[in-house]
Amino acid sequence: MKTIENYINGSFKPSTNGESINNINPATGDVYGTIPRSDKTDVENAVKAAENAFSEWSNSSQDYRSRLLLKISNLIEENLSDFALAESMDNGKPLHLATAIDIPRAASNFRFFANAITQFSSDSHESQGRDTINFTLRQPIGIVGCISPWNLPLYLFTWKIAPALAAGNCVIAKPSEVTPMTAYLLSQICKDAGLPDGVLNIVHGYGHEVGQAIVEHPKVKAISFTGGTATGKAIAATAAPMFKKLSLELGGKNPNLIFADCDYEKMLSTTIKSSFANQGQICLCGSRIYVEESIYEKFKADFIEKVKQLKVGHPVHDNVNLGALVSEQHITKVQSYIDYAKTDADAEILYGGERVTLNDYPKGYYMTPCVIELKDNSCKLNQEEIFGPVVCIMPFKDEKQGLALANDSRYGLSCTIWTSDLNRSMRLSQQIQAGIVWVNTWLNRDLRTPFGGVKQSGVGREGGFEALRFFTEPKNVCLDFAP
Ligand code: NAD
Repeated sequence: MKTIENYINGSFKPSTNGESINNINPATGDVYGTIPRSDKTDVENAVKAAENAFSEWSNSSQDYRSRLLLKISNLIEENLSDFALAESMDNGKPLHLATAIDIPRAASNFRFFANAITQFSSDSHESQGRDTINFTLRQPIGIVGCISPWNLPLYLFTWKIAPALAAGNCVIAKPSEVTPMTAYLLSQICKDAGLPDGVLNIVHGYGHEVGQAIVEHPKVKAISFTGGTATGKAIAATAAPMFKKLSLELGGKNPNLIFADCDYEKMLSTTIKSSFANQGQICLCGSRIYVEESIYEKFKADFIEKVKQLKVGHPVHDNVNLGALVSEQHITKVQSYIDYAKTDADAEILYGGERVTLNDYPKGYYMTPCVIELKDNSCKLNQEEIFGPVVCIMPFKDEKQGLALANDSRYGLSCTIWTSDLNRSMRLSQQIQAGIVWVNTWLNRDLRTPFGGVKQSGVGREGGFEALRFFTEPKNVCLDFAP
């Protein structure tokens, strides 16, 4: 049994109320540890620690903070296999994925912002003829809250914490209660790296308890949140009347627009990944697949043939493509959409969607990847976020109809376009309602680029200097140097 503790003021502690929550391994369905069920008191203690640490941390040099973040990055890399195993066990994702993507990216997040803060600059405006100069200070906000989801646990947790710390803030962070393990390992590494006490505090527990306490605490001045749209709405309802700075990275239902003139083989193999990587539990997965009419039947046959070859199994095995879904609650939700597809006249299940019982792990949360053909885009299977290994396919006649289908959604996180026509890719990129567009590629990320969504996929941008701008307050100073 692994006991996870809070990291507050540089010390490891259980919740003050002594309560805990079971931590379940989705690959086996067994409880394998506990996490603190913290509450307002623990958040209050974390805020006090952050308050005490803020003056020294915010006045430290960029160089000092940069070196510390680089040390954390290196320690993550040195412990990559332990981190990857922990992530896979907590989340159900294939170990090879955690080893190749999640943990290296967490180390990159620290390295990237350690370097970015040394290059971050602010504006100055010379008012000619008036002998004044305006310059903008970029000061840390103070105490900030970082709240993250379960699908890419350490990857997204560090994507928030690293820029917040680099900019000189003190942080109260809460990982998902469903996948808390790598955040705990990170707290141990921060201690080893010599991060001053109170600069980063990690409080574990439920969203409606710890998360809510962070969001409503008057001394927490900004909230960076990634998670579901409904949670984002609740957070905004609490934080907006308190005039907190807010960054909300929310749900998605991303379209793939596939044209007949695309590089077919590259499109096919990438579309398999964009559909089912991490069991379809990536906010950037393309779950609505629209295919130009002339290649629709061919795509349908080839795609299903490839999906049939995907192997579902225990995440620790190298040859497994899909591991376990994250929880019993989540697989039940995903299966409810499959049940709906069985009864809805507009939907036909072409392949998969069955619960899989592995001989050695009969209580694990496994299912076969599912492909559904839809007749009508207004069907809830194409309008609601399922967030599992389920994609819906539909044909379109021409560019105009394809674009209309892609934009017919309350979400707007990302879109992938497959075409060899450069003019078309530009036309569509301009008109797609999404924060991120990929043309002939998917999940290709440069950490300097702005990341975020439109419509109900969120407010604000993360990434590069956008994140450093979010985690700093601009203050303009006007200096009169007239003789
Ligand atoms: P969730 O909204 O249930 O939880 C996210 C985090 O918020 C967790 O740490 C949770 O404990 C906390 N939380 C819950 N209620 C809270 C409250 N009232 N106040 C404060 N915190 C609260 O989301 P999830 O199920 O963990 O993650 C899946 C969702 O995240 C999907 O909708 C997915 O699309 C989205 N997501 C978005 C992005 C993006 O970049 N846009 C990235 C990854 C995941």
